[in-house]
Amino acid sequence: MTAANITVLGAGVVGLTTALVLSKHKNLKITIVSKHMPGDYDIEYASPWAGANYFPVGKPGTILQKFERATWPELDRICSEVPEAGIHYQETVIYGRKKDADSATGQWFKELIKEDAWFKDVVPNFRVLPKSSLPPDCHTGTSFTSVCINTAIYLPWLLGQCVKNGVVVKRGIVSHVAEAASLHHSGRAADLVINCTGLGAGKLGGVMDPTVYPARGQIVLVRNEPGIMATVSGTDDGDDEATYVMQRAVGGGTILGGCLQHHSWESQPDPNLAQRIMQRSITLCPSLAPKASQVSELSIIRHGVGLRPMRKDGPRVEKDKVSMTDGKGVHAVHCYGHGGYGYQASWGSAWEVERLVGEVLGEMGREKAKL
Ligand SMILES: Cc1cc2nc3c(=O)[nH]c(=O)nc-3n(C[C@H](O)[C@H](O)[C@H](O)COP(=O)(O)OP(=O)(O)OC[C@H]3O[C@@H](n4cnc5c(N)ncnc54)[C@H](O)[C@@H]3O)c2cc1C
Repeated sequence: MTAANITVLGAGVVGLTTALVLSKHKNLKITIVSKHMPGDYDIEYASPWAGANYFPVGKPGTILQKFERATWPELDRICSEVPEAGIHYQETVIYGRKKDADSATGQWFKELIKEDAWFKDVVPNFRVLPKSSLPPDCHTGTSFTSVCINTAIYLPWLLGQCVKNGVVVKRGIVSHVAEAASLHHSGRAADLVINCTGLGAGKLGGVMDPTVYPARGQIVLVRNEPGIMATVSGTDDGDDEATYVMQRAVGGGTILGGCLQHHSWESQPDPNLAQRIMQRSITLCPSLAPKASQVSELSIIRHGVGLRPMRKDGPRVEKDKVSMTDGKGVHAVHCYGHGGYGYQASWGSAWEVERLVGEVLGEMGREKAKL
């Protein structure tokens, strides 16, 4: 039987991880088609702007929680066995404040700050911090070992692994899922399109998901070292502002964040917010500015803004047959809407796509048995 042709649309962390998982099946011929690629910095491309770390936020029973749980062992394995992928372990401290319970950031971190968090047996060294050790306005504190990913290293690494497995990579902007099928490198239309377009799924023909929207995140990247990876559930500066600090692996600098501004498309950094982020980060991690605890001690690499590709009901990972005007249909597996959790859910999500691809090819009478 002939091999199946697959186009993966999108080259963010979700598209690249999915393509890598699928590329291990030698009977699949895979083309990645994407407007943006690792190395680009653009407001339409969320992945380079992420911290990125593993801070689970999925509610128990959701597919997000399932993906986050499934992803940790692979991030752990890559971290310990593949140093060139740009991931390192970080001792982590999470603080929660009661007054953030109803704020945008408090809701976001609801599961993360729990002292009996569902992931306490997933990550190593989880422990509850003594109340006497918490900052004055905090009510909960936990500590565990997590990872921080240098996205500038990790995304090209993922791409390189795909290429090593025979994946063909093309730049392209498509307006419809069917167009992605026609760009397969074989010259024949792909049997299946994997739609990993993030926020783009809101505008893509054949999808046009109205429940996709941005949650703006602003960061400052600095050279200073924080000592630990840390976050607080909220701030007194606004309901949609939070504080998090993480040092990226292999010289990637330290990310200071941030905010979660639902429905904001603003691509430019707000200088006032940047000042607040830097000052709060120093309060949280005094090692950043040991001399006088002042923002002037920070050595800034760049300011940044990224848009998290949110979806009202969480990530959409499901099969579909996209109808076209000529009455024909294109088989698709959607994989978008990974909000602020695209890295920490990436492997679990990709393995679910792999399972669905097996189902779709089986339904088409293709090579299900080999998947
Ligand atoms: C400030 C910030 C901090 C974050 N921190 C973390 C973190 O610590 N941990 C974590 O897990 N997550 C974090 N995230 C979230 C994470 O970055 C996203 O969930 C993830 O990047 C989404 O990946 P994606 O591949 O779905 O989307 P994207 O990276 O946006 O990729 C979408 C791809 O689709 C392509 N595309 C879209 N439409 C088309 C089209 N019509 N034609 C061709 N190509 C198209 C784009 O060019 C792009 O390549 C953070 C995000 C931000 C903004």
